Amino acid sequence: MQREFPPIRGFIENTLIDWEGKIACEVFLPGCNLRCPFCHAADLVTDSDQLESIPVSDVTQCLDRHEGWLDGVVISGGDPTLHANLESLIHEFRSHGAMVKLDTNGTLPDVIEGLLQRNIIDAVSMDIKTALDQRYYRAAGTECDLDAIRRSTQMIMSSGIEYEFRTTVCPAFVGSDELQSIAKTVSGAEKYILQQFKPGNCLDPAMDQVEPYPREKLRQFAAELSQYVGLCVVRGDWPSDQEG
Ligand code: SF4
Repeated sequence: MQREFPPIRGFIENTLIDWEGKIACEVFLPGCNLRCPFCHAADLVTDSDQLESIPVSDVTQCLDRHEGWLDGVVISGGDPTLHANLESLIHEFRSHGAMVKLDTNGTLPDVIEGLLQRNIIDAVSMDIKTALDQRYYRAAGTECDLDAIRRSTQMIMSSGIEYEFRTTVCPAFVGSDELQSIAKTVSGAEKYILQQFKPGNCLDPAMDQVEPYPREKLRQFAAELSQYVGLCVVRGDWPSDQEG
């Protein structure tokens, strides 16, 4: 019987930056249950029907062509956990010798639990938008079940697989207090990434007017948070005037 796969609406043949220490290809699945105002994947989130549909065979042929060179596939979105047949896709990639990393917003812990229990993902990156309190909906663009997100963090931390938590440090929603709160939520985690916010093509055009924190400020945040986690690092693109 032919397996059903979720639609793929974006494909990068190789990336060195989306799975640290690995050479991976990356697929993007459409749809998301959040509407983060600073999101750069507006097409995937709200208008994915307009995007080209990429056959799964394009990805598996790429894996076969680069056998021994590509380590695996990053499955990103949108949020991949929304797709009922996500596991079929994971099995398909694994059957071509690829390891699999999942990118998720952590709102569907039952799906994450199933993938972890069946031991079919090798790594997971989970985004935490801001402090897990009554203001979370502002950064997520919609109401969220905060207990579900907390459950995902705990499950991932005790999973035994490679993982990281990430926050896009958009000054409209995230400052020192929020970062301290997030770091306490994931206290004891191996890795926490502070991603630089990038204005331009945001889901909410108002975000394009928000000035990102300077690199030095993010480094200062990371230094403050290092007491809670194994490693807290800054990631992102920087204008040349902030290099150094
Ligand atoms: S940034 Fe937010 S809205 Fe955009 S894909 Fe991620 S979770 Fe969904």
